[in-house]
Amino acid sequence: MEKKHMVGFIGLGVMGKPMSKNLIKAGYPLVVYDLIGSKMSELVSIGAEGAGSPKDVSKKCEIIITMVPDSPEVEIAVLGENGVIEGVKEGAIVIDMSSINPFTTRKAGEALAKKGVEMLDAPVSGGEEGAIKGELAIMVGGKEEIFKKSLPLFKSMGKSITYVGELGGGEMMKLVNQLIVAVNIAALSEAFMLGAKAGLSAQTMFQALRGGLAGSKVMETKVPRFVERNFAPGFKIDLHIKDLKNALTAAQELKVPVPFASLVGQVMLALSNKGKGANDHGGMVEFWEDIAGGKVK
Ligand code: NAD
Repeated sequence: MEKKHMVGFIGLGVMGKPMSKNLIKAGYPLVVYDLIGSKMSELVSIGAEGAGSPKDVSKKCEIIITMVPDSPEVEIAVLGENGVIEGVKEGAIVIDMSSINPFTTRKAGEALAKKGVEMLDAPVSGGEEGAIKGELAIMVGGKEEIFKKSLPLFKSMGKSITYVGELGGGEMMKLVNQLIVAVNIAALSEAFMLGAKAGLSAQTMFQALRGGLAGSKVMETKVPRFVERNFAPGFKIDLHIKDLKNALTAAQELKVPVPFASLVGQVMLALSNKGKGANDHGGMVEFWEDIAGGKVK
């Protein structure tokens, strides 16, 4: 893929903004759009062109990326009124990098294929920090030749880029990722609360665990947040609830029992009901602190 191809970026939130900045840094001419107009100004000030709708983006671009919250928003942006599908040119590539239900991905892919447009699903892992540093892990589904063509674009946003197979495979992979992360944070919260009640400091537990089998990247990232009481997102509890909901839907479809995903989803829902849905998912520890009557510190 030549760098001179015009790229469109739809959804400029926690992740979309730094990802699109990295595309500009890599030399891609960029057209941007977000439902909230003010989110475009920073990108426009560094050289992007602002658009009036996803349709407007797709009229101008050969590659269109979406990075919105969930399946309904992808349907609106891609298939809805004034959506990408209304303006997209034959031969264009649509890349959805949001974390959504794989069934919606396939529905969008089928609709776009009727217009001669290819689609990849390429959800990411690595959080805001990974997005800012251009070090995201990207899991890509779709035709392999389209993946290969799009690789330079992915390389300007990510470090570990894995082709996982047919369209929808990237989203399925991301659901697997999210199940692992959710259950990990829950296990850390429960165990650190137990230790804290017994008088162990979080710092001591962190040091004792990090070199052994219980150490993990999730622990390295989330336990410092427990200690510093820093629950600013990051990755919002409400977005993780959405991922677990999508994992449960996929699991139901595939007839796979996922009791841990179900249980941790309930914990996150309880926190969301207490007004903590916009906290980082590391804030899950507050559920265990609440039921144990103590603090991990
Ligand atoms: P966010 O809520 O910060 O940003 C989403 C943006 O999409 C917002 O600016 C919103 O205005 C815009 N939007 C919503 N509907 C739109 C539409 N129809 N057209 C145009 N713009 C629209 O969310 P985020 O944290 O950037 O996450 C985006 C996606 O990436 C989600 O699927 C999330 O699960 C996934 N993700 C997030 C993280 C993270 O750490 N935040 C990490 C990996 C993956």
